[in-house]
Amino acid sequence: MSELDEKVFAEDKASYVPVFQRYHIVLDHGKGTYLWDVDGKKYLDFLGGIAVNVLGHDDPELVWAITEQAHKMIHCSNLYYTQAQADAAARLVELSGLDKAFFGNSGAEANEGAIKIARKWATAQNPDKVQIITARMSFHGRTYATLTATGQPHYQQGLGPVPGGFTYVDYNNIEELEQTMSENTCAVMLETIQGEGGVYTPAPGYLQQVRALCDKYHALLILDEIQAGIGRSGKFFAYENYGIKPDIVTLAKGLAGGVPIGAFIVKEEVAQAFGPGDHGTTFGGNPLACAAANVVLHRVPEPAFLQHVQQVGAYFKAGLEKLQAKYPQLITEVRGQGLILGAELTKPGRDIVNAALDQGVIINCTAGKVLRFIPPLIITEEQVDEVLRVLGDILAKQ
Ligand SMILES: *Cc1c(COP(=O)(O)O)cnc(C)c1O
Repeated sequence: MSELDEKVFAEDKASYVPVFQRYHIVLDHGKGTYLWDVDGKKYLDFLGGIAVNVLGHDDPELVWAITEQAHKMIHCSNLYYTQAQADAAARLVELSGLDKAFFGNSGAEANEGAIKIARKWATAQNPDKVQIITARMSFHGRTYATLTATGQPHYQQGLGPVPGGFTYVDYNNIEELEQTMSENTCAVMLETIQGEGGVYTPAPGYLQQVRALCDKYHALLILDEIQAGIGRSGKFFAYENYGIKPDIVTLAKGLAGGVPIGAFIVKEEVAQAFGPGDHGTTFGGNPLACAAANVVLHRVPEPAFLQHVQQVGAYFKAGLEKLQAKYPQLITEVRGQGLILGAELTKPGRDIVNAALDQGVIINCTAGKVLRFIPPLIITEEQVDEVLRVLGDILAKQ
């Protein structure tokens, strides 16, 4: 470890709230799918800032759009219109087939807004229609409403009282959902593909059945695509893989390629539940963030771009399945689609992640023992081969 590293570690330890169990490198800059630390060591980035850097690092068009917008105007308040925000909203409406978009600054804010508008819509019909059903093992954010929506008790530990009205069911268990729903259900909120919880995809027919139950009980279907959206599944919205349409969809992470942003997109009837003053934000959807989003929203939905994600994702998944076949005592299952992939291990994955880091490959482990791959969407098959080779070497030594 260099003196440069030691200085940053010491400053961080003395000054930063210790909520992150960080890996011991100090990152400095990136290009494409590569990152460099302050000591000049190069890393292949197969985490992409947790599904954020969809266009990789230092993308010329993205950097140009941000630079140009920064010169013109970074921020101006939502009391006024901007071209960048109007364009981003129009594009999201066009891509989703829904009717209205709203911008915040993060995933949690996008979900918080979705929950608020759903409750406003539902309680206008029936004051008892407040129940929000979410899935166990889900992740929806860290604000009070979203950590309550998150169906993992440890995120709520010691933080109570949490907001009421949330109920949990097992993801992919349609019977349990059916038994839980009633006319008092306001919304069912699910990740289209569960990310943080360990990369779980919906069982065949599950989301269609959820859609039908929501229709039966006049409840809203809210899909959280903060991680699985923005092309990651091989379609722009992950729900496009399953032949359904939500009433509300939320986005964040990759939406502006690394600039903080979040969005919820709703159908018209739901949008009408909010009038002037019912919701707001100072920064959300400011021209800098929207200028960045407009680059992502034109590049990623291109058929050739999405086809690349499907192809390289299938290639990567096949490679992980080969590793599973070779090391069945270490890998029990490979899950996911497109470039949201997981390999479930028989033991905690942190040592493997650290060993990969030593060899210059950044990967991630979630839910304790699931290696999770959510790289920039521009990775190549050669880069996949490199990661598979490093992983194979590490697994051979376990
Ligand atoms: C990351 C994530 C969030 C929270 O996003 P933040 O920007 O960290 O608030 C919510 N839902 C899902 C599915 C996520 O992956």
